[in-house]
Amino acid sequence: MQQGQRLVVVSNRVPPASAVTPQDGNGSAPVGGLVSAIKPTMEKYGGLWLGWSGRSTQRRGGYEPTVSDLGPVQLATLDFAEEEASMYYIGYSNRTLWPLLHSFPGRVVIRHDTYRFYRRINRRFAEALFSVLKPGDQVWVHDFHLFHLGFELRQLGWTGSIGFFLHVPFPAADIFSILPWSKDTLEALLHYDLVGVHTDRYLRNLHDALDSELGGSVDSSGVYSYGALSSKLGVYSIGIDPSVFQEKTMLGSRSLTEELSLNLNPSHRLIIGVDRLDYTKGIPHRLRAFERMLEQHSNLRGKVIYVQISSPSRTRVPEYIQEKEQVERLVGQINGRFSEANWVPIRYLYRSYPQNVLARFYHDADVAMVTPLRDGMNLVAKEFVAAQGEENPGVLVLSQFSGAATSLVDAVIVNPYDVDGMAEATYRALRMPLAERLARSKSLMKDVFTDTAASWSESFLDDLKLNSRRAPVN
Ligand code: UDP
Repeated sequence: MQQGQRLVVVSNRVPPASAVTPQDGNGSAPVGGLVSAIKPTMEKYGGLWLGWSGRSTQRRGGYEPTVSDLGPVQLATLDFAEEEASMYYIGYSNRTLWPLLHSFPGRVVIRHDTYRFYRRINRRFAEALFSVLKPGDQVWVHDFHLFHLGFELRQLGWTGSIGFFLHVPFPAADIFSILPWSKDTLEALLHYDLVGVHTDRYLRNLHDALDSELGGSVDSSGVYSYGALSSKLGVYSIGIDPSVFQEKTMLGSRSLTEELSLNLNPSHRLIIGVDRLDYTKGIPHRLRAFERMLEQHSNLRGKVIYVQISSPSRTRVPEYIQEKEQVERLVGQINGRFSEANWVPIRYLYRSYPQNVLARFYHDADVAMVTPLRDGMNLVAKEFVAAQGEENPGVLVLSQFSGAATSLVDAVIVNPYDVDGMAEATYRALRMPLAERLARSKSLMKDVFTDTAASWSESFLDDLKLNSRRAPVN
């Protein structure tokens, strides 16, 4: 960031004002990786953060945002009408783009009316943004809810810099082409000066899609050109603020065994899973792998407890209601099959926890199963690594289909579709000798301290500055 330049961040949701001020993170914010990553950025640079309030109203709102001044951060929020929220957010964002970008073509719902609303809301975001922008502002737009915001902002006459970061995967070109508006969407992306993704693979996929749908060209510095449009495309791996999850920060918070009122002896083992309740997270596959492990290794019965924290997410979207029912059914079946008078194998918690409490839970667990079927990055994996002590670290079992697996190569990497393989890998993780755990943990800790939330935002914003090829407005 240049001295005197204001950062303006736009994302679909903003957390409530009470959760944006520094030192407060205790729980009322929407749970998810995007907010976890942007919050430290806002705390560091200050500036304005615009997004949907999460409220829906009876009538359509105007484009004027409501601005609250929270010291270094200004929070600007928009309200949407019930129908707008339902079509733009539940419809196009959650039922079309989310499954498409996570490579679940069978779940993609294509509807022209939801796309029209999506475009309308992107226009509304642009109008709201334009009304608060000042010359020289650096605009950073986040995620797939706002693919067209840059295009709309240019239509309104903004010539200053705009960057875009995609927090989810970019799928293979064949999958992306399922979208009837794939070409429009790619063209819209090229109105941003800089487009960032998490991994080399997502970048390759994006290049493939651009090549096959638009046919432009890329130069040696990563700038993609198509007609009069051009945009730098790059990889920026998001991370966490590891110090928040380190041992010293956990002093005083209750342990996992206290939280669950468990009376354990030293031979007991704890496995933890922490996810939004989302079908991309592979919770049913993981539950089946745990069940398989108990079938195959009867010595574990009575000794291992799997704690699954599932934070409520998108609770009005039909696919999420079904997923919740499936997970609860499986938990009931497995507990019904294996429980004994003094042992219940799965403790299932349908709720969210503040991060300082999660940090202690990660620390107390012997193994974390982070096994999404597809995940842009997955910050829980990095948080678990950061929370391990130097003396008796736990083991991370990590899906090969998470962005995190590209850097956390010393985790126990699994294919979440291979339930038998995942069961065996988890069994190995539970029995891993201390020397191996120490060696893996040391290497993983290094990775988590290399790609942090701070290094991610710094490198993106530096590149945005270098690649803002349009003249600033006067
Ligand atoms: N999280 C939380 N409380 C919970 C569950 C999750 O604060 O009960 C946070 C977690 O610490 C992490 C984020 O939500 O920072 C989840 O990010 P991740 O990248 O793993 O997945 P996403 O939800 O973005 O798909």
